[in-house]
Amino acid sequence: MSGRSSEVRRLDALVVGAGFAGLYSLHKLRQMGLCVQVLEAGSDIGGTWFWNRYPGARCDVESLEYSYSFSEELQQEWVWPERFAAQADILRYINHVADRFGLRPFIRTDTRVVSAVFDKVACLWTVESARGEVFKAPFCIMATGNLSLPRVPDLPGLETFRGNWYHSGLWPKDGVDFSGRRVGIIGTGSSGIQMIPVIAAQAKHLHIFQRTANFSAPAVNRPLTPEVDRRHKERYAYWRDQAKQTSFGISGHPPPTKSALDATPAERNRDYETKWDTGGNISFLYAYNDLLVNAEANETASEFVRTKIRSIVHDPKVAELLQPRDHPIGTKRLCLDTGYFETFNRDNVTLVDIKSDPIVVVTPTGLRTKAREFELDDIAFTTGFDAITGALFDIDIRVEGGSRLCDKWANGPRTYLGLMTAGFRNLFMITGPQSPSVKSNMVASIEQHVDWIAGCLQHMRDQCAVQIDADEAAENKWVDHVGRVADATLYPRANSWYVGANIPGKPRVFTPYVAGLDKYRQICDGVAADNYRGFILSKAPVDQTQSRQA
Ligand code: FAD
Ligand code: NAP
Repeated sequence: MSGRSSEVRRLDALVVGAGFAGLYSLHKLRQMGLCVQVLEAGSDIGGTWFWNRYPGARCDVESLEYSYSFSEELQQEWVWPERFAAQADILRYINHVADRFGLRPFIRTDTRVVSAVFDKVACLWTVESARGEVFKAPFCIMATGNLSLPRVPDLPGLETFRGNWYHSGLWPKDGVDFSGRRVGIIGTGSSGIQMIPVIAAQAKHLHIFQRTANFSAPAVNRPLTPEVDRRHKERYAYWRDQAKQTSFGISGHPPPTKSALDATPAERNRDYETKWDTGGNISFLYAYNDLLVNAEANETASEFVRTKIRSIVHDPKVAELLQPRDHPIGTKRLCLDTGYFETFNRDNVTLVDIKSDPIVVVTPTGLRTKAREFELDDIAFTTGFDAITGALFDIDIRVEGGSRLCDKWANGPRTYLGLMTAGFRNLFMITGPQSPSVKSNMVASIEQHVDWIAGCLQHMRDQCAVQIDADEAAENKWVDHVGRVADATLYPRANSWYVGANIPGKPRVFTPYVAGLDKYRQICDGVAADNYRGFILSKAPVDQTQSRQA
């Protein structure tokens, strides 16, 4: 079927997106005997790991954790080559999963969804693609990703640039050879920090345009030895179970019990050194129990990293510029790198501070800041994403004759448990706003959400219910709770994409639920056990509701 506007497919459920979330949704719902179609904008599956092929791309959660747990055979048989898997290996894994579980026939690639409209009377979502294909199903699951709408800044003159430009989240499939080229990278978040050392080793000259200095810790990536692999797999079920009892969904890091302020400076230094040498961001932020809630405690860890930067970077002026001072460590995602700060000691690398000297225009031959002109052959944007709500707003989601999602969320997202939003019946979100999502091992969060939704659909089947909606009162309570939890932490202090600060005009709302995946799982399980408290189930399409208040 391709490009035929009149064609209509009737299904039990539609899933938008074929990343980790869409694929597991498909597998799970098919196991329940449902007829499911996945629609994917990309030319192949993989989501994040299909799109983000930039040099140095890899995960920052250890491979043995950042993988599906739903199949013991899968997790036993798959062998990860490195502690932190590279993009190509994760994509290989996702493709293996799709083949192994026979998912491909139910995935339609090159199919960008542009609208999703709910007909209350017929109890059907009608989903339309950019090519005019129409699909209908009573349930629609948005597995569209939190970091899937790349953001290229509105820089005047970009269209006049005679060189090549790229975005980390839209990287060419065949890669890019920067040998002998004068390259500019704009952005120093996780993507930039991973990419910079690799491109610096290749390019003739690399200019790094930094607006805000960022914290980064060494990944300490290494090959995963057969011994480590064997030991983990001997007790894989145990480690997965342990992970479920942690706030980040990652095992092997017992929660700290001590405040940074109860340690002496010497003890703190020793502990931070150990964590620094161990690698991994969870490890570092788990040095003490108050690094993300107490500014004074946080400052001890922030200053430790600044001292590291000063010790690594030879030029004191460059070292000064690289030291973050505008946000507490961890309140933006703590980047993991392999030789990032060391890269600034190379002769072919120049740091440009665009906070004091902003970019004014892209020219045919490079770009101009207020004070200087730069000649460039290539520009790589690592400027991030319209995160969390971006991909959802990119689809015209609405109820026929009623509300639009973008209107309802004009002042910030409103959801119940990050799973549904009141008024939009039978529409589920995987790792939606106000769920732990990006503040956890996302594969663990995805599995938790999909399992919960599958359980909910089974419950509806058992009850002969055809519609489900979030109760508005329950939603209001949840939104307040998410905000209160965030306000008790340091997170809202940073101008991060968690609060939408990277997108001009986006309302400043801290969106992820940061009480932890463990607590969140208990809440969701409790809601289900209490007959889906806070959701409204109905046996008939229109408003003969059986309501349960939160
Ligand atoms: P995605 O993988 O983003 O998939 C969503 C899919 O939906 C995409 O393929 C997209 O094309 C499709 N889609 C969106 N809109 C439409 C539409 N309108 N029509 C059709 N299709 C659509 N998380 C971690 O926990 N650990 C990590 O180490 C980690 N590293 C990351 C590194 C990078 C570079 C990035 C960008 C993110 C990283 N993340 C990490 C977060 C990562 O996004 C998740 O871990 C996970 O891959 C999300 O899977 P998903 O299926 O929910 O979303
Ligand atoms: P990001 O964290 O949002 O970083 C974007 C960078 O671009 C920031 O340095 C930002 O500066 C800069 N920037 C944005 N707009 C700009 C503009 N108009 N002019 C100049 N500079 C601009 O994006 P990202 O690095 O792609 O990472 C996004 C998220 O994806 C991460 O937080 C993480 O969750 C995930 N990720 C993970 C990994 C990993 O290690 N596994 C790798 C990549 C991505 P300001 O800070 O001043 O806004």
